[in-house]
Order: sequence, then C-alpha cells, then structure tokens
Amino acid sequence: MSPTPPVSPEAAAREGSLEAPTRHPLEWRTAAFYDADALDKELERVFDICHGCRRCFSLCNSFPTLFDAVDATSEGEVAALDRKVFREVVDHCYLCDMCFMTKCPYVPPHPWNVDFPQLMLRAKAERVRREGLGIAERVLAATDAVGRLAGIPVVVEAANAMTHSRAGRSLLEKTLGVDRSAPLPRYHARSARRRLARLGSVRRPVNAAAPEQATERTRGKVALFTTCYGNRNEPALAEDLVAVFAHNGIEV
Ligand code: SF4
Ligand code: SF4
Repeated sequence: MSPTPPVSPEAAAREGSLEAPTRHPLEWRTAAFYDADALDKELERVFDICHGCRRCFSLCNSFPTLFDAVDATSEGEVAALDRKVFREVVDHCYLCDMCFMTKCPYVPPHPWNVDFPQLMLRAKAERVRREGLGIAERVLAATDAVGRLAGIPVVVEAANAMTHSRAGRSLLEKTLGVDRSAPLPRYHARSARRRLARLGSVRRPVNAAAPEQATERTRGKVALFTTCYGNRNEPALAEDLVAVFAHNGIEV
C-alpha cells in the first residue's frame, strides 16, 4: 500500500472547508492507469482512509459494503479483505460524485488526495479492459436507447406490463440478471424533454409576466439536466420543477 502522507497543520485546517475541491485530470490514456497492481495498492490506500473516517456510510451501497466487510474480518483492517470485496465496492458505485463533491474532507488539494469516484471509475475501466463487457451490461448501461425504445407509443404499455408481471421479471432475471424483487420504474411515451418543449419553457421563460432577474452572482437562469431516468421514467419531476422555477421568474 502506498504510504499516506503526513498532514501539515495548514492542510489539517483546510479539512472539510467550503472551497470547491480540486479535480485532477484522469490519466486514462496512460498504461499506468490500467496497471492492476498499482490500482490495487491505491484502492487499499483509499479504502483504509475511508475505513478510518466512515463519513460516507449513508451515501450509497459502496461504503456500507466496505465497512461491513472490514468489521467482519478478525483483524478489522482493510488489508485483511478478500479482493472480491474490492470488486463489490466498485460495482456498487454508480458515480454520482456525491462523496467527492459534498462529503469528503480529504479531497485534493489535501495531501491525502482522496477522489473516491475517480478511483471507482479507474477500477471499472481496468476491469472492462481486462474482461470486456457482456451483452447484459451493455443493454443495462444504454439507458437512453432502452428508454427511447420502451417509450414508443403502444410499445410502452407492453414494456410496462412485461416489467411488472411475474413472467416478465423471471425473464429479465434470466437474461439480464435483474433481480426479480428489485423495484423497476415505469416508462413514459411523453418524455420530460418532450413535455417541456411543448410548454415552451426550454428556451424562454414560462412566466413572461415575471422575467428572470440577474443577481450579483447569478444570471437568473438555470439549465435543467433531466437525466435519462428523469426524462424517460419520472417526467413529472421535471415538469414540477420547471413550474416552481417559472413561478419564481427563473428561466429554464
Ligand atoms: S460516487 Fe460512488 S461511492 Fe461516491 S457516493 Fe456516489 S455512488 Fe457512492
Ligand atoms: S470518501 Fe472521504 S468522507 Fe467519504 S468515507 Fe472516504 S475519506 Fe471519509
């Protein structure tokens, strides 16, 4: 495991500060990025810091998976973990960036240089390069394409009926590995983007009587990132949010 550098009083004073973290570029074009031994050492180094900190225990399933596994070892140390636990921790990360952006006091420029999501991304990239991707993984990752297909009028009713029937869930489990008891979202033919375009709110204010007002630090406008899930599975969320923005004279 690479040594974790000592922390100067100045660096310690910056821990958990309100400044934006520094994100170093990913060195994904270099051979070192995919070096399995170096990656393993870095995973162990960062997991050990996380084990001592445990601040992110409630953010996602990656952290409880790590902490429960460490607690189950007789040594109570990351070094004692089976490497299949490392893989489970990586698999549970869906790269939302929450731990880096909002929680971690050890992000760069702190000398401990913890960027948990980038490390998970590196571990995922290394595995894909070594093992490749199966068809099921490719299909499940193509959320926009699947949503576009499942959202075709007429097809959408059949897709929703299939994903919410016992026979359909059994089929999904056998073909794509989706646990039959996992909650699945419904698809909508009228996506959020389509609904918002119809409202005319994508390019101009909904509430023309209350135009946007710039402030000292903002332009009075926001860009709404609907996400694949919001666009295809929960379009009412975007509609409601735009209605709130419009009510407050904020252009979307
Ligand atoms: S980036 Fe990954 S590890 Fe961090 S909170 Fe999100 S899902 Fe969890
Ligand atoms: S990512 Fe940072 S805040 Fe979260 S558990 Fe690890 S060291 Fe603690």
